[in-house]
Amino acid sequence: MNNSLLIVEDEPKLAKLLINYLRQAGYEPEWLENGLDVLPWVREKMPALILLDLMLPGRDGVDICKDIRSFSEVPIIMVTARVEEIDRLLGLELGADDYICKPFSPREVVARVKAVLRRSSDLKPSGPSGAPPLLHLEEDSLLATIHGHKLDLTVVEFKLLKFLSANPGRIYDRNQLMDHIYPDQRIVSDRTIDSHIKNLRKKIAGASPDTEIIHSVYGVGYKYDPQS
Ligand code: CA
Repeated sequence: MNNSLLIVEDEPKLAKLLINYLRQAGYEPEWLENGLDVLPWVREKMPALILLDLMLPGRDGVDICKDIRSFSEVPIIMVTARVEEIDRLLGLELGADDYICKPFSPREVVARVKAVLRRSSDLKPSGPSGAPPLLHLEEDSLLATIHGHKLDLTVVEFKLLKFLSANPGRIYDRNQLMDHIYPDQRIVSDRTIDSHIKNLRKKIAGASPDTEIIHSVYGVGYKYDPQS
């Protein structure tokens, strides 16, 4: 199993603290300080996950994240110094898997790292156990099943579920969801999304009561996450 993590952080104290905690949690963290060193390192060693600070000497986290996404889906957790920054980053659709704001507790970081790694391993197709997959979607027939139970979805609900579930853990705001559902018009109230999501959740709960897969993120939007 690949346990290597890359920490990109230009504050040595913080980096060392993270290294200690992540080692204790069984990971093998490596550390880079300069943004310019990240791409060559990632191409050569491909870690299991990257903790990427936003403000770095050499090259900033936004550009690094975009560059990595051009060739790899390796999980990336962005670390920012300001909570307001997270909204802006979400808007850029960088493809990061999670966002952490400084100051953070190292324990919280370890928990997020574990959660993101678990999610990314769940993305792999269902195993040989023969159990029905958590979620199965067939675009042509709008067939949706959850743990093998059929969901009767409207076209909009199907589209929402497909869109959200394509990127587990990624948070989408209402505008992003609306753009996907109603690409031609912006007259629709953004609360429309809320009511579609509400109905979708109700149907999922009806078909599989213990399965909560769509979560609201307070003040931001929604995400598909089978694990949280
Ligand atoms: Ca920094």
